[in-house]
Amino acid sequence: MTEKMGERMEVAKITLELLNEKHKSNVVLKRISHSTRGMARFRQQYFSLPDYLFSGNYPEQYIIYYTIHEYTHCLLMMGTHNPFFKSKESSDLKEFGIEIEYARAYPKRLYANGEIVYERTRKS
Ligand SMILES: [Zn+2]
Repeated sequence: MTEKMGERMEVAKITLELLNEKHKSNVVLKRISHSTRGMARFRQQYFSLPDYLFSGNYPEQYIIYYTIHEYTHCLLMMGTHNPFFKSKESSDLKEFGIEIEYARAYPKRLYANGEIVYERTRKS
C-alpha cells in the first residue's frame, strides 16, 4: 500500500466520523475489499468499500461520495435508492461541498465549487 492510498483511506474514515457525529449514529467501515463495488449491511450497521476507490484514479470528492452513499444505506436502514434516500444523500454531500447530478441511483456528475470533479464514463 502506498502512502497516497493511506491518505485516501483517511478521507473515507474522516468522512464517516463526521457523519456519525452529525447523525449521532455508530456506523462502521468494516473493510476495504478487493471487490468491484461497495456493500452496506444496514441491519448490522456496517459497510465496506472497494479498494480500487483508493487507487489514485478518483478525486477525493468521489471517495467522500462513495462513503456517504454506503453510509446513507446504513443510516436509513434501506437498500433502495428512492427519492428520500437521494435527498438525504445529497444533503450530506452538500455539507462536504459536493453537488450531485443523478443518473438513476448513481452520480452522472459530481461538482465542487461549480466545477465537474467526477463524471461517469461508462455503465457501472
Ligand atoms: Zn446504493
